Amino acid sequence: MPTTLRVAVVGAGPAGIYAADILKKAVAEQGGEVSIDLFEHLPAPYGLVRYGVAPDHPRIKGIISALREVLESGVVRFFGNVRFGVDIQLEDLQRHYNAVIFATGAVKDAPLVIPGVDLPGSYGAADFVSWFDGHPDVPRTWPLEAEEIAVLGVGNVALDVARMLAKHPEDLMPTEVPANVVEGLEASPVTDVHVFGRRGPLDVKFTPLELRELGELRDVDMVLYDEDFGVDPDEEARKANKQILVISRVLDQWRQRETGAASRRLHLHFWSRPVEVVGDDGVTALRIERTRPDGQGGIEGTGELRDVPVQAVYRAIGYFSSPLPGVPFDELRGVIPNEAGRVVDGVRPVPGVYATGWIKRGPVGLIGHTKSDAKETIEQLLADELSWWTPEDASPEAIPALLAERGVDWTDIAGWIRLDEHEIGLGEPHGRARIKVVPRDEMIAISRATERAER
Ligand code: NAP
Repeated sequence: MPTTLRVAVVGAGPAGIYAADILKKAVAEQGGEVSIDLFEHLPAPYGLVRYGVAPDHPRIKGIISALREVLESGVVRFFGNVRFGVDIQLEDLQRHYNAVIFATGAVKDAPLVIPGVDLPGSYGAADFVSWFDGHPDVPRTWPLEAEEIAVLGVGNVALDVARMLAKHPEDLMPTEVPANVVEGLEASPVTDVHVFGRRGPLDVKFTPLELRELGELRDVDMVLYDEDFGVDPDEEARKANKQILVISRVLDQWRQRETGAASRRLHLHFWSRPVEVVGDDGVTALRIERTRPDGQGGIEGTGELRDVPVQAVYRAIGYFSSPLPGVPFDELRGVIPNEAGRVVDGVRPVPGVYATGWIKRGPVGLIGHTKSDAKETIEQLLADELSWWTPEDASPEAIPALLAERGVDWTDIAGWIRLDEHEIGLGEPHGRARIKVVPRDEMIAISRATERAER
């Protein structure tokens, strides 16, 4: 091992930060030394915990305290507002590190190829989530003009989207929801949110905790349809799975509830496959085809089409990763091809290049799963000493000098702490967890303390 192993991690979400932490601990156990530089294209760290987890999920956002400890451990440096492939290239990393780990996640919507999907009023969940989480790179306003809305997919993202659309905005107030988002939601005329699963009520991807939360929304009725239940011939056998049993019990309880008093409704539809977004210059309906079990564990269309009147459609059918310049990419699966985290080009390993998190295995699994993922990747990296890069200049000063020479306004850990404290301070007088600073230039200015922040 070199005197100090130098590793770059691209992506400062949970996957990248866990990888840094596990690497730091593993090298220390071997009696070695490591220095890790985390590069992030946003000025703030924490990836999907800051910009993907819904603002009314403070428990999950709490993961940030553990991630922050890693950033402040002294072994890891943070370089925010640095775009891989623009501000820094693979060749730069080769010149200054022994290896790189890509942990860039998946932030785009998976494509859905049905007629009308590009109509105005048809949106990807990823964009909407970015908006309600105050992502600096999306517009500040969101067109919330529909009274009836369809959400496609029955995963946790679909539930986040449906909940944020149906929830009365005043019930979001103690959270860190950005001010522009509250304003947008307050103007929303929504009365009905329809969530569609293409399979049955026991084939959902969301988790029981997140489902239960819907039933607790104030002044929102949960509406289920009898025709969707008792369709799957294996229903009873499948309830041997505890998670399925819990979900089925929650849904059954809701079916017994009185409805009609609430001003908003959240409908759950199953056995409904989206086939067309209907409309001329805007969405007027979602066309679904009813489905049924095909007897082999899958589904088949029944040929029965129905138009559900809606004025907006949100696709929450999964995320998809983006390719990185100079790094192999599997266009079909949306991942960097790899064997246990070791990046491969065809069948040949690419020396010095590793992947972890959603870019490694696809956009499934909870945040905690990226830990075991990172462990596997780090094991490969440490076993590969003979194929690591030999950097020309491994000095820690080389990177800040390079970024300065290229005119990059990078942010560091001290800058993040400054921004973090600033946001918490903005929230305090209003009894809010924080008020997020949304514009990128303002985030950078506060982090770099070069200008007075505008409120
Ligand atoms: P997901 O869990 O994979 O769910 C995707 C949903 O879209 C599934 O119901 C899937 O149905 C459906 N779907 C896929 N293609 C479709 C198509 N062509 N037409 C209709 N429906 C289609 O993905 P996700 O919701 O994006 O979540 C990603 C990960 O993040 C998950 O592990 C999730 O648990 C996690 N997450 C957790 C939270 C939380 O609060 N705990 C919040 C957000 C995300 P099929 O099953 O039939 O394919």
